[in-house]
Amino acid sequence: MLDEFYMRLALSAAWKYQLLTYPNPSVGAAALDRQGRLIAVSAHKAAGAPHAEINALYDAFCELCPDKAETAKLRGLQSSDEIHNFLRERHGGLFEGATLFITLEPCAKEGKTPACAPLIADLGVQRVVIGRDDPNSEMAGGGKYLSDRGVAVTRGVCIKECAALSEPFNVWLRRAFVLFKWAQRLNATIDEGRISGDLALDETHSLRALCDLLVVGGATVRADRPILDARRVNAKAPNAQIISAKTNFDRTIPLFNVADRRVVIAPRLNLDRGFILIEGGANLLNYLADQIDWVLCYETLALSGGKRAIGFDRRLELLRGDTIGENLKIWAKVAR
Ligand SMILES: [Zn+2]
Repeated sequence: MLDEFYMRLALSAAWKYQLLTYPNPSVGAAALDRQGRLIAVSAHKAAGAPHAEINALYDAFCELCPDKAETAKLRGLQSSDEIHNFLRERHGGLFEGATLFITLEPCAKEGKTPACAPLIADLGVQRVVIGRDDPNSEMAGGGKYLSDRGVAVTRGVCIKECAALSEPFNVWLRRAFVLFKWAQRLNATIDEGRISGDLALDETHSLRALCDLLVVGGATVRADRPILDARRVNAKAPNAQIISAKTNFDRTIPLFNVADRRVVIAPRLNLDRGFILIEGGANLLNYLADQIDWVLCYETLALSGGKRAIGFDRRLELLRGDTIGENLKIWAKVAR
């Protein structure tokens, strides 16, 4: 029961960064000290940044270390390499008897960052609780690495929830992962002006910056004349595809005039690899239903306004509900 409780804290932290870690999986971690006191809950926040368990160990070090000059040194470090080296060299036995909860098996091999499992073993962590095993065969083996070195390893805690959390990663290891995103009022309308709050809009721009292809419908492009860039996060605009059989678009529409962007116009979505983000209304959602893996809805608490509502013929399975600023944020899976 307690294992599940702490694993769910790790899951909550990870969901805040869902897809924002692309092409890495979303991962969360929590740490308990030797008395079983919760001392850290954190997540992997971006590809190339420290992994979830390293962020949790970082926070735990700051909580446990009595020497404030040491914690100030750690807080001054930026790169994963520096943080790994600091923790390995200066842990001073603080983590002996500690327990780590990680939604995904810790990595056993070096990738963009140094491997986590060897560091965890070197720190004297007593027990590691793992949600799901790493589906990436190149990085897997962290659990075995730890148990071979005397760390108590428990696997499969909240395995269904941990598997759902990292499902996009599982998908893009094999094929493209397709997300349909929209913003609506509580009355399901999606038209007539801005709907999302600042934080939800910022997050949308972050997802655009990360995706391999942004897909929109031809009718939306003609009616709304969007730009569909990532300016709110100062990032490069994604390449775009307009789903349309007709190619006679007014080329002064802003989305055609963004630097370093390719725009293709085609009636069908050609799936390859990567992360595909679709932004649109009911027509596009229903038209592409068979190819959509997940949907993401930002909902604002207005019950009036707008005329055009979104609707979908398929059943959705709820994955996660959170808040972001003044909006609700709902993740769901298209039922097959
Ligand atoms: Zn790792």
